[in-house]
Amino acid sequence: MDRWVVVAPERSRRPSDFRMERQPRKQGRCPLCPGNEADTPPEVLAYGKRDRVPDTSGWHVRVVPNKFPAVRNLPRETGRQGLYEWMSGLGRHEIVVETPAHVPDLDGQNPEQVAEVLRCWMERSRQLARDPRWRYVQVFKNVGRPAGASLEHTHSQIIAIPFVPAELGRELAGMHVYRRSTSRCVLCDMVAQELADGRRLVHDGGGFVAFAPFASRFPGEVWIAPREHAPDFTALQAAGQRELAATLLAVLRGLAAAFNAPPYNLVVHTAPHGEAGGEHFHWHFEISPRLSITAGFELGTGYYINPLPPETAAAWLRDGKTVGGNVSND
Ligand SMILES: [Zn+2]
Ligand SMILES: [Zn+2]
Ligand SMILES: [Zn+2]
Repeated sequence: MDRWVVVAPERSRRPSDFRMERQPRKQGRCPLCPGNEADTPPEVLAYGKRDRVPDTSGWHVRVVPNKFPAVRNLPRETGRQGLYEWMSGLGRHEIVVETPAHVPDLDGQNPEQVAEVLRCWMERSRQLARDPRWRYVQVFKNVGRPAGASLEHTHSQIIAIPFVPAELGRELAGMHVYRRSTSRCVLCDMVAQELADGRRLVHDGGGFVAFAPFASRFPGEVWIAPREHAPDFTALQAAGQRELAATLLAVLRGLAAAFNAPPYNLVVHTAPHGEAGGEHFHWHFEISPRLSITAGFELGTGYYINPLPPETAAAWLRDGKTVGGNVSND
């Protein structure tokens, strides 16, 4: 999709060449643990026992407004300063506490719990999308401090914003260009090619396919996409949620094994609601381990240097047992 990456594997041969600690922060009382519900703003959604009182324990997934939001429920204001334009940081920023267990990630959770997290991402996204001010609801997950997480307890984030983000606009435009010249969906074609080729395939979960994208920007980058064309992530039904949970778990366990529980970011890209042509979008997850530092070349050019070919990354992620071992291609 109109993106150039320099794949430069000369200097890296083993998974242990790609090490980055999650750097957990020494924390006192965890505001996300059960029993500490009063430490967060009042919950906006929770799954738990039937007769549970809000903001008490007994939940298994809980959504609260972010205490330190990146965007706020502000009046919409815009202005100019000479040639610069500004807009108030309008939006909603929420935290999804993914399990009552104080663990750093979902990889040790059972598939049912992960499916509940996915259900929560979808339900809360749909609820937020009903507010006409929001044009996009971004679900994402930061794990480990190098990936931006400030709390250790496994959680994800949902931000509703009043515009379609540039990255998504770029993907939409790329999908439209491909569609105009081929009458097909580029991601449908990518999934088909990865399944047929196999070299970059990480996990074939039936309805969902995980693969290391051709010319990945980041070492160990993995995308998960539905095999059949589907624009709206939030429309997934219960059976699909369970199947997606199993695929996501396979990827997270592969990452943890191959790269020693790396810090990573996960972003959900789904069709912006109400956007013309949105039905041609093909939703997907992008999972980017933080195993290298983006530096001057990336900043200066917008191109990425990736020292790990996706074919090698996929092989490591598939067997997940190669930590410290040698790779056969030297
Ligand atoms: Zn905790
Ligand atoms: Zn498609
Ligand atoms: Zn994307």
